[in-house]
Amino acid sequence: MSLMFSGFGVSRGITIGETFVLRRNRPEFSDRKLSQKQIPAEVRRYRKALANARRQLEKVRNSIPDDAPGDVSAFIETHLLMLDDSLLSQGPIDTLKREQSGAESALEQQREEIEKVFNSMEDPYIATRMDDVNHVIDLIMNVLIDDRNQATSTPPSHDWKGRIVVAYELTPADTIMMQHDGVLGFVTETGGQLSHTAILARSLGIPAVAGVQNLRTYLKTGDQLIVNGETGMVIAAPDTTMVAAVQKQQRALKEKRRELNKLLNTPAVCADGTEVTLLANIEIEEDLKQIKRVKAQGVGLYRTEFLYMNRAHYPDENEHYRVYQKVARALKGAPLTIRTADLGSDKEAGTSARGPLAHNPAMGLRGIRLALNDTSMIVPQLAAILRVSARADVNIMFPMLTNLHEVHQCTELLEDVKQHLKKRRVSFNNDIKVGGMVEVPAAAIAADQFAAELDFLSIGTNDLIQYTLAIDRIDDQVNYLYDPLHPAVLQLIKQTIDAGKRAEIPVAMCGEMAGDPRFVRLLLGLGLTEFSMPPNSILEVKRAILGADRKRLQRQSLAMLKCTTREAQQTLLDKINTSRTIPVA
Ligand code: PEP
Ligand code: MG
Repeated sequence: MSLMFSGFGVSRGITIGETFVLRRNRPEFSDRKLSQKQIPAEVRRYRKALANARRQLEKVRNSIPDDAPGDVSAFIETHLLMLDDSLLSQGPIDTLKREQSGAESALEQQREEIEKVFNSMEDPYIATRMDDVNHVIDLIMNVLIDDRNQATSTPPSHDWKGRIVVAYELTPADTIMMQHDGVLGFVTETGGQLSHTAILARSLGIPAVAGVQNLRTYLKTGDQLIVNGETGMVIAAPDTTMVAAVQKQQRALKEKRRELNKLLNTPAVCADGTEVTLLANIEIEEDLKQIKRVKAQGVGLYRTEFLYMNRAHYPDENEHYRVYQKVARALKGAPLTIRTADLGSDKEAGTSARGPLAHNPAMGLRGIRLALNDTSMIVPQLAAILRVSARADVNIMFPMLTNLHEVHQCTELLEDVKQHLKKRRVSFNNDIKVGGMVEVPAAAIAADQFAAELDFLSIGTNDLIQYTLAIDRIDDQVNYLYDPLHPAVLQLIKQTIDAGKRAEIPVAMCGEMAGDPRFVRLLLGLGLTEFSMPPNSILEVKRAILGADRKRLQRQSLAMLKCTTREAQQTLLDKINTSRTIPVA
């Protein structure tokens, strides 16, 4: 019997194939009391589990492709080292001997002890390692439990090759590995449109659906699944009619892509002659190929968080330099806006950089707050960006700005770094453009002040919507409230664009809204002419631009700010979007 589920389509495309169910939520076990005689066997069982966990990690490490980012293997190395630590290799054995408990309870007790110590630590480097400790403990625990249940242990990750991964949640590192392993698509039980994993899936072109609660309860590895990243539908055990319908949709999508490719060499100019700049958002090397394919005019947002993820130390200046130099070369003179590390909240670094455990991470020490709290995080990054600026059109962008004091701190820090480079006789562009992201309502409301002090602004709608509407961007329970058309959001966008005009500085948009063809004409009407988006969206956005009449759009877009119901908004949006001169596929 076929089963249908619905979630949020987070990365477009439709796929059909076999499921790989990833089970790594916290394992369950029951407490046991041991007799003195049973203890030596239990110790042996624990040691065997450690060895087995090691073999599993080594197998994953050996299957990492050569061209995978270095941080993926660093992540596994860290876990292997943790297995050797006496906290895990000896601690649980001492406990089980002392308490005469089963190995599972002893290990769980050890987890609690370690957690207590970590929670009391102020140092963000150390506090953040608890995620990894948990990962390793879960691995050992799974082996112990599987061993008791005589079941086979969780298959190593490369078993997901050519399949559709179904998981509770996935980390950005998982997503990269999946792309390398040729995974067909993925579905997660948590998350939404704006989680970092979803953004990454879009740039890697993996069809994905998020927020399908309890899906794993109904599935086992090997089941047939359809994942529709366009509509958010997931169908298990589809019948032949459903399969035929999906194949038809896949053919239509292919045809649509073929049509869009015809626009590759068409300039992005509105019917009234307004020239629009279409830039790409990138974060990993893989994105450079896409930029070339869709002929983006440059990079409007280079998210650099990946350089910081799953590693013990921040990247040094030379590592930053090598990476940025490579990207700048690939862009061949086109502009490159590098955003300084924006870690925290949904962009956890894994093992290297994170604020102390916060109750509300999105409101906590994240983005520029984290970087200014520990400037060693971005000083080498700024130095590297400056070095690259000597020979390339590079801009610096600071994330999550809330007040002008932060702007001053950032510019002073940059000045210090420039002075150091001068002392080292290293060349750079002294007039490098410095911009800020407008993604906190305070910055949009005070946009005139920010515009007066910065060379450019870029609107980050992912966070701007989150903070304006008070909805956690990765919480699927409040996802229904995520509304880019909310008059408050549109008002803040307009205010920012207008402030840029008054100060005569460029204003771009680099949040996901800029890459959504449904909103392109509305944004043109609000005065936006610089859009930065996942490379995969560029051609569709270009199609929406061609044939647009900005004068008419201006009137309609302003009317949008006054709509009081969703129905009225939708009717107006349809009207805004229908006057196309280029046929829609
Ligand atoms: C945004 O908030 O819109 C943005 C572009 O930044 P990120 O999604 O990386 O937080
Ligand atoms: Mg943001």
